[in-house]
Amino acid sequence: MAESAKVVVIGGGIVGCSVLYALAKRGWTDTLLCERLELTSGSTWHAAGNVTHFGHYAEITRLYVESLETYLEAERESGQSVGFHATGSLRLANSRAELNSYRTLLPLYENLGINYRVINAEEVGDLNPLVQLDGLFGAAHTPDDGHVDASSTTMALAKAARNMGAEIRRQCPVRSIGRLRNGRWQVDTEFGAIETANIVLAASFWTRELALPLGLDLPLYALEHHEVVTDDVPELKSLNCEVPAIRDPRSQANVRQERFSLLCGVYESQPVLWAAEGIPSDFGGELLVPDLERLEENLMHVIERIPAFGDVGIKIVNNGPMCFPPDGCPLVGPIEGFAGLWLAAGFPVGIGTGGGSGRFLADWMVNGQAPYELAPINPARFAKQIPVDEAFARMKATYSMGYVMPGKCQSG
Ligand SMILES: Cc1cc2nc3c(=O)[nH]c(=O)nc-3n(C[C@H](O)[C@H](O)[C@H](O)COP(=O)(O)OP(=O)(O)OC[C@H]3O[C@@H](n4cnc5c(N)ncnc54)[C@H](O)[C@@H]3O)c2cc1C
Repeated sequence: MAESAKVVVIGGGIVGCSVLYALAKRGWTDTLLCERLELTSGSTWHAAGNVTHFGHYAEITRLYVESLETYLEAERESGQSVGFHATGSLRLANSRAELNSYRTLLPLYENLGINYRVINAEEVGDLNPLVQLDGLFGAAHTPDDGHVDASSTTMALAKAARNMGAEIRRQCPVRSIGRLRNGRWQVDTEFGAIETANIVLAASFWTRELALPLGLDLPLYALEHHEVVTDDVPELKSLNCEVPAIRDPRSQANVRQERFSLLCGVYESQPVLWAAEGIPSDFGGELLVPDLERLEENLMHVIERIPAFGDVGIKIVNNGPMCFPPDGCPLVGPIEGFAGLWLAAGFPVGIGTGGGSGRFLADWMVNGQAPYELAPINPARFAKQIPVDEAFARMKATYSMGYVMPGKCQSG
């Protein structure tokens, strides 16, 4: 007889572990998470760990805020540090229109009870002395966010979930999923079958291939995404605090402090698809070949705004695959016509939104209805199949607009 569980979560990145943790918090502990390799071995291990509170849409902002709350809660419960650095963030305004758009968000943040200010250029300079202020109109300041250690955070969620009774199986690849005659689901792993009422597909870009045999053509592909780390910046050594993270619509880049270096994530204007023909079967989650030349234009703008960035060398260039749906928002919720099959995949900003999304999905699963309306992440928006060329074109267009207002989900 096959083993059984109330829920099988497939994928042990930050998202799968967030779902497992949120289900356990709601009393669902007859759960099993299957991870192909080790926890975090997909995109999570190389993420910069930025967690922002900045968003143009109230519901998405709520996901950001709840994510950090969830991670700190898991830290308290598990005793495993998530490495939170409460630096705050500055979303720069290079025009009056940008600054005004940030001002229009003040009531949204007041309603949500989140610390949010719109400040002038001088105040930006006081908070982050590395910023060159010429032509700067000010910034949106979210003082309570910052960055976490993505791997430690995943481990904290996993440990806290396990402490409540959830089970995690590493080195346990799922081969296929299928519907049984009795309406339940069967998950076939390398080590045998598991019968279950609910499957959560939290396998990032691998989700597409797991769902295809069911006739589900989900637009879950990946783009290459770079981040670079500089040598030590002397100015940072002379400060006695960590500077706030910067997100700049002009350079389409984020820059935060990493010890005495600067870590910069770049949204290229000509993004490159990864594994468009299908994920190589031997891909183990390793980094891709970096291409610094592609980042030149973005990095020139970064140096204009943060001259100290250009005064030192670059010691690390990371290029990793990032699951990126055509509209840049994840797919979280049930799949119409497939009762008991749930999606938690397609996260370009999975550290920033994973914890809140886990809560949102767990509420939906446990209560049978969504806790609140969150149309931008509802999988139903892709119920009609998108031709692959159109999906790729939309992915590239959305990605390259990274920080240009008003982005729905992109605030990594
Ligand atoms: C360079 C870079 C920097 C980034 N920086 C940030 C950042 O600062 N902030 C932010 O919010 N986001 C950032 N991201 C994005 C972030 O990494 C992802 O959004 C996040 O890790 C997605 O988590 P996940 O759990 O959905 O996917 P993953 O971490 O990829 O997890 C999916 C898991 O599923 C497993 N799996 C796949 N197939 C199977 C199977 N058949 N059976 C069992 N298990 C399976 C995989 O092994 C993997 O562990 C960055 C991405 C890159 C590339």
